[in-house]
Amino acid sequence: MTTIPPADAPLSARPARGAELVLDVVAFGDRGKSIARIDLPADEGGAAERSGYVVFVPGAVPGDRVRVRIGKRKKGYAEARVLELLTPSPLRVVPRCPYADVCGGCTWQHLAYDAQLEMKREAVERIFAHAPGLDLAGVPVRPAIGADRDEGSGGIYYYRNKMEFSFAAQRWLTDAEIATEENFDRHFALGLHVPGRFDKVLDLKTCFLQSEWSARLVNGVRDLSRREGWPPWHAREHTGWLRHLVIRTSATTEDRLVNLVTWTRDPARLDTIAAFLRAEFPETTTFVNTVNEGLANTSYGDTSVVFGPGTIRDRIGGHTFEIAPNAFFQTNTRQAEKLYAVAAEMADLKATDLVYDLYCGAGTISLFVAGRVRHVVGVELVEEAVLNARAAAEANGVANTTFVAGDMLKLFTPAFVAAHGRPDVLIVDPPRAGMHPKVVDQIAALRPERLVYVSCNPRTQADDLARLMEATGGGYRIEAVQPVDLFPHTTHTECVIGLRA
Ligand code: SAH
Repeated sequence: MTTIPPADAPLSARPARGAELVLDVVAFGDRGKSIARIDLPADEGGAAERSGYVVFVPGAVPGDRVRVRIGKRKKGYAEARVLELLTPSPLRVVPRCPYADVCGGCTWQHLAYDAQLEMKREAVERIFAHAPGLDLAGVPVRPAIGADRDEGSGGIYYYRNKMEFSFAAQRWLTDAEIATEENFDRHFALGLHVPGRFDKVLDLKTCFLQSEWSARLVNGVRDLSRREGWPPWHAREHTGWLRHLVIRTSATTEDRLVNLVTWTRDPARLDTIAAFLRAEFPETTTFVNTVNEGLANTSYGDTSVVFGPGTIRDRIGGHTFEIAPNAFFQTNTRQAEKLYAVAAEMADLKATDLVYDLYCGAGTISLFVAGRVRHVVGVELVEEAVLNARAAAEANGVANTTFVAGDMLKLFTPAFVAAHGRPDVLIVDPPRAGMHPKVVDQIAALRPERLVYVSCNPRTQADDLARLMEATGGGYRIEAVQPVDLFPHTTHTECVIGLRA
């Protein structure tokens, strides 16, 4: 038996792996790991300038008193797992979803939404405080722009326009399910993965991320599949037929796309599903089937249309976009508009401006700003997205855009700038990995007057901007830093930064 010291008793040594302790959680940390501190005596590293030995506690909330077990230990910190919540923080709320504490879809539903926004603002602040050569020089990180607090779609629930549910031959049972002592079939699940488990899936009966309709569809397709005896994918044995159920719903039109991802094409089964959707889910405007013959757990593959147009339409900034089953489109339409509005404001657009929209996807930012400037040049790696961008510009009657397909690393050269003109404004929105260092160097060489960096990963954003500062000898001033929350109840943060040469 481990004895549990009271939280206020000073600990005379770093805790051992496996030790059980009572800790007070004092601050948010990175990636959803909150921080507790243990005061060490001076001779054990508790020097005056150190604010104690840090213990990271995933999922705990500042203000909690928790009983934890120490796991991984390092010189400066340890990680611990919560065994018991002794005193809950006033920042806690009761999660709306019964799966909230096990599901990988939402990991922070137990935190009040205002506190979620503050957690994200602080994360950005911390990252920039530690980035070398990146002095915010008193520029405050603005409070994160949150989702609307309504209960309807696009608020803090039901905000996703796309969900990808997985089928699995190995079902993860929750503690609550086990406690019912019901005899569950453990060999069929349709839902979301448990974090860190590629093979096991929670059999979700409800989900507040997309829509009630989407949750009902999941239940309907599960019942049908089980009735028909169709085998779900087994991630270890690589057997089965059903792989994913991807649902795309438009935030602004009635369009709803269902994509069943399977191991092989099976027209007879697809006919059964099509008839089922028409009868039970007549709101489905298009049904497609993607065949993924690879072992990777993705919904990509060869897609064919079973009924309907095979695409859906959604609107951002007053422009309509046609979206293919696997095309990238901002997942939270309403918040994406707020994100773009911030980017446009920071770009301080003028009617004479030539704007480059780099990593432009389907051209959503390009079209968003095109009406206020002279011309926009968009660059995007995925050919299909560029075709979508051109089609969207055409369909929306936007004539002052040019879209170029290619890899930024190869394409973004002085010759490119010579061909398209020197930009007044650069808007960049790279993927999570950030920009290639050579692309940053090219931006530094080009030195546009205004630069707006939209990022879904403030860490790589900080690295890129630190490099830019170094390459330009501090040639840019950071004017504003604005986190935007596109993914309530997760630790993901979007961040827009405006710079001026
Ligand atoms: N601005 C868009 C897309 C942002 S996602 C929007 O708001 O919807 C980032 C985009 O960068 C993706 O479309 C991805 O295909 C593209 N991309 C990734 N690597 C790239 C590269 N090396 N060169 C050009 N585009 C790239």
